[in-house]
Amino acid sequence: MTKEQDCNSRNIPLPIQREVRQRCGFGCVICGMPLYEYEHMEEWANVKRHVAEEITLLCDQHHREKTGGLLPKEVVREANSNPFNLREGVSKPYSLHFSGKTAEIEIGGNSFTCEDLGYGTAMVPVSVDGTPLIGLIMADGHFLLNLVIFDEFNAPVLHIKNNQLYYTTEPWDIQLVGTRLAVREAHRKILIEIDFQPPNKVVINRGRFLRNGVEILVRPNNILVTNNATLIRGCRAHNCHGGLIVGHHEQRIGCFMALVSLPRYLGDRSEALKFERESMAEFKANKSSNADGSSAADS
Ligand SMILES: [Zn+2]
Repeated sequence: MTKEQDCNSRNIPLPIQREVRQRCGFGCVICGMPLYEYEHMEEWANVKRHVAEEITLLCDQHHREKTGGLLPKEVVREANSNPFNLREGVSKPYSLHFSGKTAEIEIGGNSFTCEDLGYGTAMVPVSVDGTPLIGLIMADGHFLLNLVIFDEFNAPVLHIKNNQLYYTTEPWDIQLVGTRLAVREAHRKILIEIDFQPPNKVVINRGRFLRNGVEILVRPNNILVTNNATLIRGCRAHNCHGGLIVGHHEQRIGCFMALVSLPRYLGDRSEALKFERESMAEFKANKSSNADGSSAADS
């Protein structure tokens, strides 16, 4: 690592990030949005240092307004001294807080739970070849969201690191309405949809994950790995930190489904999609024909 890489505006040490998050009420100081960027209130070019008191939190929109000169520095300073999420009498956006001894993650109708082992306990719903594509970390009574989205060419196009919008190449639309977080591509297609269900549950309803020639589609009731038409539904695991773990991982993660070897980069996915459609229709038909009988077969 060179000296310049050593100290840039982005690599704020984690303890300083934690201090800033707590001081700013875990959200943009202007509007409270819990996904944000760390903003140096002093011009970075002048100070080139990371001091917690000189750093504040701004969401993507307010960050852009500040950069574009629409949001005066003084307004940011004022908000920093009285962060939105710490003000009284205003209705605040959900700040991804959680409480309880265990946390549960549901993804595509499958779920896993684990105990909160203290600051930094991590849950990894989807990981491929050692890269967690989505992860949630428990910290100070809040979930920190980690998300990396790769495109078809295996290049990262969106990276959220501990709730920080770290790296994006496209104009993404990231919206939190109530407790529902949706990330859309510019042309409005939902790429991932996460519902935070306080106090301790996170539900991933939709998502498309690509990595190293693997395609994972998350639907409300199932997960489909299109490479070999692996259809995953109804898995339940307890006391583990992982969901769907694909490929080789140096650090083993307990999970509800591990797919160690998979064919990669298969071009035609229409057979897998057809299989999914037919199977899910069959499950649905079975479910409704059992609806007035006993549910014993369900266990
Ligand atoms: Zn904001």
